Amino acid sequence: MTSQNQTFERLCRTGTSLSVHSTYEIGGEARHLALPHTIEEVSTMLEGATSKGLDPFLFGMGSNTLFPDRPSDDMLFFSLKEHIEFKLLPGRLFVSAGTPMTLLALFGLYTGIPSFDFMFLLPGTLGAGVYMNAKYFSHQISDVLETAYVIDKEHPERGLISVPLSGCEYGYKKSVFMRKPWIVVGADLKLPVDPQLTPEQTDELFAKIKSKNLSTSVLPNYFRHYTNELNAAARAGYELRQELLDVITDRGGKKHFDYPSCGSVFKNNYTIGEPMGKLVDRIGLRGTVRGGAMISDHHGNIIQNRGGATAEDVTDLVKLVQEKVEAEFGFVPEPELVIV
Ligand SMILES: Cc1cc2nc3c(=O)[nH]c(=O)nc-3n(C[C@H](O)[C@H](O)[C@H](O)COP(=O)(O)OP(=O)(O)OC[C@H]3O[C@@H](n4cnc5c(N)ncnc54)[C@H](O)[C@@H]3O)c2cc1C
Repeated sequence: MTSQNQTFERLCRTGTSLSVHSTYEIGGEARHLALPHTIEEVSTMLEGATSKGLDPFLFGMGSNTLFPDRPSDDMLFFSLKEHIEFKLLPGRLFVSAGTPMTLLALFGLYTGIPSFDFMFLLPGTLGAGVYMNAKYFSHQISDVLETAYVIDKEHPERGLISVPLSGCEYGYKKSVFMRKPWIVVGADLKLPVDPQLTPEQTDELFAKIKSKNLSTSVLPNYFRHYTNELNAAARAGYELRQELLDVITDRGGKKHFDYPSCGSVFKNNYTIGEPMGKLVDRIGLRGTVRGGAMISDHHGNIIQNRGGATAEDVTDLVKLVQEKVEAEFGFVPEPELVIV
């Protein structure tokens, strides 16, 4: 066995339920699952997948992904969520793709930089945020990104490729990354001011932020943990900006974290003039149940797992909404949710 093969076998877990890697808490056992810690390990996984004829599927925190009830044995599921790294550079902050976006809001809190407040309690990893231009009200990843770093899934041997903001082709929940066989491994984010820190203070800051990470896809635990961190920071003397408090009120009020879900299921169609949640309300679908899945009774664009839901229950509701919206409003809503 070559050393590359050995590394592949070492990194690959067998028989892991994908449900523990998804905020839907849905997904069957994966024959091949890996959580690489470095970019070299990512390349090894990709090369191993090619030589074994496996189809790689990359994910982050699984907060926008519906995994299958019976995953194919020919798929390799892998996530970068254990690769968390920060580097402070003049005018920018390098962040690895596996870093939870909410940790960037904590970075902003500890350094007095407000640019990342919109990422507070935004579930998911930076890599996926860069991939789909994650958005909260009027703020989105494209506002803060300077350069994304990717590797080509089909040619990992070519190494790191830099993609400047102008090359990301960002739009509303759209990007070049959705059309290319690229894995985002990290990004430089713009800093409006450079934090005045010595190298030792910088190391301490990043160690502190990493210590706040809670690797979970269980939404109530996620919400409780990061709101507790904010309260702890306030007690330690950090000033909580109103934007951060507003996020808690808004997301808590919309009951985003009460049940397993992937947040909004469909992209808004801005030509219609009303968000998807309102359209679903207008056709009276709130509260509709299929098996263990339900269209939230608080927000028409969220489908929740109310206990024991399968991927099929969720996709049945997705199809129902698409059919009814097409009949009533003349367009088929495009899922934001990634259905594997
Ligand atoms: C309660 C709740 C609220 C939410 N609110 C919002 C919101 O306000 N705004 C918003 O935009 N989203 C929201 N979401 C959706 C989710 O937070 C975002 O889509 C987030 O970007 C997904 O991150 P993830 O790491 O979980 O991605 P995953 O679900 O793991 O993956 C999503 C997609 O990204 C791709 N991907 C993942 N990592 C990479 C990478 N490194 N390189 C290339 N492609 C990659 C995957 O292949 C997949 O296609 C919400 C979700 C929940 C559960």
